[in-house]
Amino acid sequence: MNASATRRRVVVTAPDTIEIHTAPVPSPERGEALVKLHVSGVCGTDKAGAHGEHAFFKPPYYPGHEVVGEVMAIGEGVDNVSAGDRVTAEPTLVCGHCKPCTTERENLCENLQFFGCGYREGGMADVFTVPADRLHPVPENFTTHQAALIEPLATPVHAVRLAGNLDGKAVAILGAGTIGLLLLAAARHNGARKIVMTDTLATKRELALRLGADAVIDAARSDLAQAIRWELGESADVVFDCVSIQPTVAAAIQMVVKGGTVVVVGGARKPITIDLPVVQEYQVRIQGATTYRAEDFHDATDIIASGAVDAADFITATFPLTRAAEAFAAITSGTEVKILVVAEDNDGERAQPQDGRP
Ligand SMILES: [Zn+2]
Ligand SMILES: [Zn+2]
Repeated sequence: MNASATRRRVVVTAPDTIEIHTAPVPSPERGEALVKLHVSGVCGTDKAGAHGEHAFFKPPYYPGHEVVGEVMAIGEGVDNVSAGDRVTAEPTLVCGHCKPCTTERENLCENLQFFGCGYREGGMADVFTVPADRLHPVPENFTTHQAALIEPLATPVHAVRLAGNLDGKAVAILGAGTIGLLLLAAARHNGARKIVMTDTLATKRELALRLGADAVIDAARSDLAQAIRWELGESADVVFDCVSIQPTVAAAIQMVVKGGTVVVVGGARKPITIDLPVVQEYQVRIQGATTYRAEDFHDATDIIASGAVDAADFITATFPLTRAAEAFAAITSGTEVKILVVAEDNDGERAQPQDGRP
């Protein structure tokens, strides 16, 4: 690419203001790769960021952290990828020398930067630069849509890893959005015996049933914890809270077995209160879970390769880069599962839809 080449970049310039800017194509610096976009997922983090409600970054910023693309060029010192490789990015940009980084918990890096979330580059651009050591190769036989699910699935895979052995366990998953539904696949893959899911939307509950949940419950019920215990036929060994609001956390603590684990997967937007006497007396473990590590990317890739996750169930809408604002609006509707922003010349699977739907 010559020095005068330009690229289009999606920019969240202010809360709920999403624009397309034209900028020079950057040259990859030492340790970086220049990547041409194929697709970039939109998720709850993007939704919160675009509303100006994310706790850790605010507009203006360059969105797009769930990317699949092709390496166009590499900077000095890069030897793990080459031009032409199809890759997905682990968007956590870690320092490599702090305490978490040197004790195999680099997702908790004390100097963490996040590609597409307040970093100087984001994936919703024709091309972008990213530290090459965060790139993972995509298996050749994967479709673009399968590849686009590796990063979203890595989050539940990490949460399941933190929960401990799920073999034969009774599990509740609160929230049947993208993360909850992918958690269903990850928990089942790891041996969970019985899985009950909740959501306020009937469409999401129906999808959870179709994807293999043993039972579903309307999350709006006031007796949520009792209803889940009844459906499980016992208390929950592990509860994954993908919603993380006051009613779900309270219910999670009520439904978990004494000595059980509540994994907080959903990004809480504000402090909430917990029943600490119960947590102490019943020896309940409240376990936060954030992002993933390389091992989670590898396991997520294996789960998708096994056929346990069908991309067609998850990717419900695609929008070209120039219509990124519509993709952000669509995620706010709550009715879609995974939405992708796609490069015009590579929508992944099929001809470009005119109405934003596959
Ligand atoms: Zn995301
Ligand atoms: Zn670090």
